[in-house]
This record gives sequence, structure tokens and C-alpha cells, in this order.
Amino acid sequence: MAKKMTILLSLILVLCIGGCGGKVDLDRTGLVKLTDHVYAFIAPGPEAEDGLGANSGFVVGNEAVLIIDSRYTPGLARELLEAIRGVTGLPVKYLVNTHYHPDHTWGNSVFKEEGARILSCLKTDKLIQRYSPAYLDHYKRRAPGIYELLKDVEIVLPDSILAEDISIDLGGVLVRLECVGAAHTASDCIVSVPDEGVLFAGGLVSNGYHPNLGDPGIDLEHWLSTLERLETVGFKYIVPGQGKAGTADLLGEQKVYITKLKERCRKAIGEGVSLDRATEEIMVPGAELYEQQNLLAFNIQAIYRSEALDVVRPPFRFLAPQRYILSDGAGDTLSGFIRWIRESSNGRYEIEVKWQPTIRSEIIAQDLRDLLAEHLVSNKDLKMEIEGSKRIWIEDMNAHALYGEWRYAGGLGSPSGSWEWIMGKKEESLFTMRLSVSGGRSKEENLGGIEVLERLITTIKFGSE
Ligand SMILES: [Zn+2]
Repeated sequence: MAKKMTILLSLILVLCIGGCGGKVDLDRTGLVKLTDHVYAFIAPGPEAEDGLGANSGFVVGNEAVLIIDSRYTPGLARELLEAIRGVTGLPVKYLVNTHYHPDHTWGNSVFKEEGARILSCLKTDKLIQRYSPAYLDHYKRRAPGIYELLKDVEIVLPDSILAEDISIDLGGVLVRLECVGAAHTASDCIVSVPDEGVLFAGGLVSNGYHPNLGDPGIDLEHWLSTLERLETVGFKYIVPGQGKAGTADLLGEQKVYITKLKERCRKAIGEGVSLDRATEEIMVPGAELYEQQNLLAFNIQAIYRSEALDVVRPPFRFLAPQRYILSDGAGDTLSGFIRWIRESSNGRYEIEVKWQPTIRSEIIAQDLRDLLAEHLVSNKDLKMEIEGSKRIWIEDMNAHALYGEWRYAGGLGSPSGSWEWIMGKKEESLFTMRLSVSGGRSKEENLGGIEVLERLITTIKFGSE
């Protein structure tokens, strides 16, 4: 009797996933049945043990199952697999990685063992390869609890890279994989089940979470135009990359978040608001209670960095040094940078000057260090070392410099050189100068090149407009 009761109860449970009476309960987390063949698996919250809020989902055909995103850890991936097994015993034939971020790909190993073929769009495999090992190492060191969570993560790359959009037949149920190109990352994939009106939006949509707008490969304009295009399709349900499932309204809401934040940042840059103040004061209306509030400051920083040059006219003009070719941009336009190039038998010397308004040089210096440190661990071919930092006086300006060496790991004779970043503040604008020497044949030559550049930079004259 007790056994019969249990069977009956589990039957009711299975039938009622997502809500009884045929109505889908979009307020649920965990397993949500959206339509006849489509299930969302909604993360319960933003914590690391919940998978940082990243969702998954799966589509069940008459012959096979396709999974969308593998969650943050093998443990969480196994939880997803169990949920699938509660619905169907059919083989998991495919797993799609919508983008390279760890919370969507670090459960890959579990489904690989299940025999799934892992699919992604172009570049996603390269991005996993480039960033995941360094991220994994970095996160594991953060806290003992995180180490425990991540200790059995295996970086597993996609098996098949899609060069174009495809449809997959799971036996009577068609799933469409679309490579949208750069949006939330340098390569994003969206998955839909057209006959049932469901879209798995991957990183392109978050619901009740701040989206991450700071990926190096991001393309905000293309992200917005893709959302606009998807709005015209008429999807019934959207499964966001993070947050609860919803209707097609989520597409418009995401568009508003990005547009509003960008507008507010551009306005603040134009008014000379410092990045510090901007991160404290700027808010997106309606996002006050969103999960992952820490991402807001990160997003503001990212937009400041990308928009500053476009918004602000430089307050000074550079006089091009002799014997250098002015190759791009101009000091009195909105383009925001000047580049001088000089080629000689000793190599190619390059000076690039960028200006930005009122962003503290310390922040940029930290950004540079982070950028280089990341480069150092994530790129096996290129070795960059930070040797130190120093102060340089240029006219009346006290500038900071970071410098070091770079070389390609090809042994003797492979390209190498020295690099140097200089940043300083003048008339409330911060500007940075990137100096590089490439193709030098020996360390002495490279150092000679750097000396030439250093002499040159200290004699640059700034002419006021
Ligand atoms: Zn993401």
C-alpha cells in the first residue's frame, strides 16, 4: 500500500512539474516543464553552490535528449542529469554550450561520460581553452568552500564547432541552434524549439539578475539588435541564462537595461563624473533588487572604458614627433587616440596615446596589471612579464609606467621585445600611452628600442587647443 502511494505521489509530482492544471508556473526554480517536449532547469539562486544562478534546460524528442548548458560544477550537472532521468530514459545525445562562461560549461564532463556530443558555435571552444584553466585556478584559491565545489571540474571542450546555424531532429522534435556572433561574449549561441515557441537565450537574457556586460569579447550594439530581432519571432517562453523563465517580455526588458545603463554612463562621462562616483550613483531603474549587485559596478566600469573615448573631446593636442608617421586618429577629433609608428631595421616602434576623462589612474593601472597577469597565465604562446613600475616626468605631468618583456615561446630567434605602459593625468583627463617594440633581434636591441622610445616620450610637447 505504502509503495503504491509513493508511486502515485511521484506520478502526481512528475505531472505537476511547472504547475498543475496545464498552466506553467514560471515562478518556480528547479525543473519546470514548459511545453510537451521542453524543460527548463532554473538555478535556485546566485550562490556558487547554486551554480551562480546559471540555468540549463533540455528538449526530449522521441529518440534522444538535447541539453542546453551544463551548469557550473559536475555535482550540479549530475543534479540536472537526475532531473532528466526523472522525465525520460532516452539517451542524452547532445549538449549545447551557449557560450564559454564557466557557469555554463564546467559540468561538461558529466554529459561527455553519458556519451553526449558537445556542440558550440565558432570560437567558444577557443575561449574555453583560453580562459577556463586560469579561471579555475583563480576561483579554487578564493576560499576553501569554493575549492571543494570546483575540485572535480574537468575542462572539457566542445566536440563539434558549428560554422553555421543548424537544426537537430531528436525524433519528431526539431531543435534549432543559431550562432548569433558576438553579443554577451565574442561568440553566443541561442537554442530554440520553433514548433513549441521556446527560446533558450543563453547569455543574451537575464531575468532579475544583473547581466554581465564586461566580457572582453562583448558587442553591445549587436546584442541589442539581436534582442530586437528575436522580439519579432513571437516566442511563447524564454529561458534566460540566469533567473526565472518568462515570456517574450524578457527580451524587451533586457534591451531596456542595456540601453538605460549605456545612456546613463555616457551622460555621466559627458558631465565629467568620475568612475568612482558613477559606480556609486548610477542605477538602472527597476534593477534595484536584482541579484548579483556587484556586477553593476563592473558593468559601469566596462561601459565607461568603452564609451569614454567616444564621448569626450581631448583637452589638449599632441604635436607629432619628427620622423614618426601619424597613422591613425587625430588629437582634435572624437576618435580618442593617436598612434605614431616608426619602422626601422631595428624593428617597429609604436606609440599609441589614448585619453579618457577623470578615471583614476590607479584603476587603470590595476586593470593593466590584471590584464597582463591574465595574459601571462592564459596564453601559452606569448610570455609577458611585468618587471616593475616607475615614474616619469613629461612636461609638467607626473606619469606612472609599468614595463616588462614579452616573447613568443618559439625558442631562439622567435619574436621578442619589451613593452611599457605609461599613464598620466593632465587637465582632468587621464591618458595612457602604449609603447611597444616588436621584431627585435636581441635583448640589447630591444632595450635600445625602449630607450629610444623613452627619450622620445619625455620630449613630446603638448599643445593646448
Ligand atoms: Zn555568461
